[in-house]
Amino acid sequence: MRLKLLSLVLLTALTSTAASAASFACTKARPGVEQVVCLTPSLSHQDEEMAALYTKALRNADNSVAIRQSQRDWLRLVRNQCTTVDCLGAAYDRRIAALATGRALELDASISALKAVDPAATSGVQYLPASQDSKPYEDWLEQNQLFESAIALARRAAPGMPLPKVVGWECDTNRGAFYVSQQDLVVVCYQFVAEIASYHVGRLQDPSTNATVEGRRMFTAIEFAVLHEIGHSLLHRRKALGSLGSEETEADSFASVVLLSNEPDINDVVESAVSIWGLTSTFGMKEQNGWEDYSDEHALPQQRFANYACLALGRNPAFGQWIMKTSVLKPQRAQRCANEWERAAAGLHTLVFAGR
Ligand SMILES: [Zn+2]
Repeated sequence: MRLKLLSLVLLTALTSTAASAASFACTKARPGVEQVVCLTPSLSHQDEEMAALYTKALRNADNSVAIRQSQRDWLRLVRNQCTTVDCLGAAYDRRIAALATGRALELDASISALKAVDPAATSGVQYLPASQDSKPYEDWLEQNQLFESAIALARRAAPGMPLPKVVGWECDTNRGAFYVSQQDLVVVCYQFVAEIASYHVGRLQDPSTNATVEGRRMFTAIEFAVLHEIGHSLLHRRKALGSLGSEETEADSFASVVLLSNEPDINDVVESAVSIWGLTSTFGMKEQNGWEDYSDEHALPQQRFANYACLALGRNPAFGQWIMKTSVLKPQRAQRCANEWERAAAGLHTLVFAGR
């Protein structure tokens, strides 16, 4: 969920010669990391240095596709995760050093920890060792075969498509869930599972809450996160065929269509959506220094929630009552939801078809 998607605009700019303070056009910088780079002279300078080295590495490379991919992964998994200028400076330093010494394909150590994943394992799921704190969540995921069930849903929706491996990991920092294209891996942080769990467990203090129902909602929330990342994997394959679009919206739409096609209970949909987009937890809505909310390339949680609600309504008009009650959608938008559902469902079909 917290996957920070690369900016294709930025990548294009990296190889262009547009006059700007950074390597990309600052007039077009998006709120968040790009703006901070533009507004901080030392970062702008580092960005230019990195871009020059990157261009050189591409020119000299035997495998420019891999380098381009590692650059995207770096932007998404390393640079765009930063929430301070210091973090950005250090991230640029390491990337500059790597590019300057022909190690463009090496990402940060935290990411290479994922290399512990056994590519030969036949199962599509793997749990990397968890700390004592995270162990109960790892056990919970394993016992409930939660990753397996998300994969099964994706397989039903996208028959015949190769699906990424899904890995549980004690992340160096809580990054929610993210997709690593180099290894075609979906990674789910145990910390993220703990965070989702704390929301649902908190609700159990209300005596009217049913533990089985609450567990199912937690299940749905995590499935959504895994499906969103699987969506990135499928979109990534399609991208190789030259199609572009707003990938975050499409990944959300993939996860929504797959889950909603499975006819879940309306209350489960609502409650799991609330926990996914962190309306109550620190995830998603986290406020740090003011601009970090925008450092994520996902839409704001409220927007994603509204999109999901709209697809739910489009799928099943019975959801209308809840939608009116929460006023998550303006009536004008609500009228278009049947249409949005049709388009999203057709989009999934195209994705599966084009990716073969
Ligand atoms: Zn995403």
